[in-house]
Amino acid sequence: MRAAQAQINLSAIRANLAAVRELAPRSKVLAIVKADGYGHGIVRVAGALSDADAYGVASLDDAAVLRDAGVRHRIVLLSGFDAPADLPHIRALDLDCVLHDPSQLAMLTHDRGSAIRLWPKIDTGMHRLGFAADQATMLRATLAALSNVAAEQVWMSHLASADMDSGHNAVQLRSFCAATDALNVPRSMANSAATLRFPAMHFDWVRPGGLLYGLSTIAGRTGADLGFQPAMRVSSRLIAVKDVQPGARIGYAETFVAEHPMRIGIVGFGYGDGYPRRADTGSTVWIAGRIARLLGRVSMDLLCIDLSAMPDVGVGAEVELWGSNLPVEQVAEAAGTISYELTCGITRRVRFVESA
Ligand SMILES: *Cc1c(COP(=O)(O)O)cnc(C)c1O
Repeated sequence: MRAAQAQINLSAIRANLAAVRELAPRSKVLAIVKADGYGHGIVRVAGALSDADAYGVASLDDAAVLRDAGVRHRIVLLSGFDAPADLPHIRALDLDCVLHDPSQLAMLTHDRGSAIRLWPKIDTGMHRLGFAADQATMLRATLAALSNVAAEQVWMSHLASADMDSGHNAVQLRSFCAATDALNVPRSMANSAATLRFPAMHFDWVRPGGLLYGLSTIAGRTGADLGFQPAMRVSSRLIAVKDVQPGARIGYAETFVAEHPMRIGIVGFGYGDGYPRRADTGSTVWIAGRIARLLGRVSMDLLCIDLSAMPDVGVGAEVELWGSNLPVEQVAEAAGTISYELTCGITRRVRFVESA
């Protein structure tokens, strides 16, 4: 059996939610569990996050999986419905829906079903989803006239640069306030980075995703630096060790050439398991309490590491690809991406285990 495994720490997830509540004590928490709980497994993370006020998902399928697992919380469909045929499913699953586009409004005006709870979304400057900010008052009136729209709505917007020191954050906040101050509605703006950095954006609901899994998007800061615990530990084992001579080429395409005699180790983990292939010589792994560097290209099932300074480490030794000993943010940086992409990218053949 392959030793590749992802260990999911449920108590870390619970503790991270408690830490979010401390940051935003007056706000409800919409726990974002899209993309299979950022790769951690949607049902298990929803269980660990049972203290959340609602869950946020990106697809009807994810919502159905949660309902099938017995989840009774409010579930918010973050992109809402795509077609009129979605509406009966939304009612059957009792979902809240983000409303972000005039096409969705048109579908609602032709629909005669029971009232759906909506989260109208305003585009305050990200230019992805949302109604134009100057449409808010009109939208509010339009929705008030529809019998298939619940009176209770949470109005929301999403930030483009919450993890950066950009003046655009203040621009988006001003736009959101200008659009919604007079509506007297519950509001939501903050993702993880804004929950951490901008208390003025907490409003009635915060919407953390990454922080719940101990992940940071803030450059140069790990989740642990910010007081959050990593929830995923990815590990495997050393399956071969060999000595090579100067001039030896390591792995595909000869991208690493030994300059002196080296001891190298082969780890049973590759891009077929979700290790980023773009990480190359210079990325690191944790092994036997120390950090070893990757050598050459990552293969589908294997990667090579430098054990020259670790003569005592042999076949069978446990290797942590990321986790509490080696922050996922560090691996992500070596691969030119963010931690979220790595946790989302762990593949089906990796064995998931839970720790309580
Ligand atoms: C994914 C998402 C979030 C969570 O973002 P994080 O950076 O993971 O906290 C919040 N709101 C919306 C609308 C999202 O799509």
